[in-house]
Amino acid sequence: MSSAYYAQDVPDTHRPYVAAPDRHQKLEYRRVGSSGLLLPPLSLGLWYNFGDNRPFDTQREILRRAFDEGITHFDLANNYGPPYGSAEENFGRMMRTDFRPYRDEMVLSTKAGWDMWPGPYGMLGSRKYVLASLEESLRRMCVESVDIFYSHRADEGTPVAETIGALDTAVRQGKALYAGISSYSPERTAEAVAVARELGTPLIIHQPAYSMLNRWPEQGLFDVLRGSGMGSIGFTALAQGLLTDKYLSDDDPERATARPSFDGRVLTAQTRERLHGLGAIAQERGQSLAQMALSWAIRPGGVTSTLIGVSSIAQLEQNLEAAARTDFTDDELARIDELAGHTEEVDLWEESASIG
Ligand code: NAP
Repeated sequence: MSSAYYAQDVPDTHRPYVAAPDRHQKLEYRRVGSSGLLLPPLSLGLWYNFGDNRPFDTQREILRRAFDEGITHFDLANNYGPPYGSAEENFGRMMRTDFRPYRDEMVLSTKAGWDMWPGPYGMLGSRKYVLASLEESLRRMCVESVDIFYSHRADEGTPVAETIGALDTAVRQGKALYAGISSYSPERTAEAVAVARELGTPLIIHQPAYSMLNRWPEQGLFDVLRGSGMGSIGFTALAQGLLTDKYLSDDDPERATARPSFDGRVLTAQTRERLHGLGAIAQERGQSLAQMALSWAIRPGGVTSTLIGVSSIAQLEQNLEAAARTDFTDDELARIDELAGHTEEVDLWEESASIG
């Protein structure tokens, strides 16, 4: 076998990675609140498709392509997988092999809050858990620090001052540059902001669920964030795949219910009817339903950035196009509100929820 023939046979992901030279010219970066940090309008989340349940080469191909296309922000958490920890481990492997030279071009985040290890110190918001979890995350991700460290969820039992104090310690130890909170109510967010101000913690970002079907941040949270100079990064803009073309057919797609976290209760006849209506608006705009849902989340007045969770390069490519179409007419917005703005869908991440 000639060496030229052999070289062609090497899968792309096994070749040394050199990032695309024009990677920073493709997306318009946005300021996070009044901080100095900029994020791309679309960021890549590693919750579900980057654990040991997916081929490593596919994950690597997606991350390389995302970075080549200007996605600088990669969002993780201690419990992303499955199994827990494996998304951070797989990311760490890619950090060692592909992304080390580009570390300063990336914004990496991780979180602590959901159940991670057994016993009373393996979840929620105590100083004991939050700081121990960050150590473990850094080890798995093969980095010395992350750019954003989040409290992943509110904890009724722990004083907000203790949890924000733990994030503050992480920043002072040089293990995180900025702090964030996720799924905190407007009231608890205001409390967290007050503590952070007193301590001087760079609490710059909130990560709420936000989609056409889930508007809770519009009921007070966005006001608090604007008033305190914080930015936001939305998650599940596609409602875990519900706001995509796969639900527009009458078949019940297998992948649709494959995620344990996907709550089948949302799939009512009324929801399907709404999805068809939204699909029609998307079609008029020359977009897929997924693209319109993403464009909507990052429209003026929406979130600073939204997280995308993708399982293939095709999904990534399709979703990236959404960043160029954040313009909506008043009529389109009104029709979207009519169809999707008054739903009472199940919100898995409201403060009292038990799913991570
Ligand atoms: P999502 O955007 O609502 O759903 C992503 C899923 O939609 C993909 O896994 C894929 O399903 C499907 N999809 C994506 N693009 C598609 C397209 N163009 N056409 C058809 N289907 C498409 O997001 P998510 O995965 O639930 O969450 C995204 C990220 O948000 C996570 O990775 C994480 O970083 C973050 N998050 C944070 C929290 C928190 O508590 N802070 C909670 C949840 C998520 P298939 O995999 O079936 O192909």
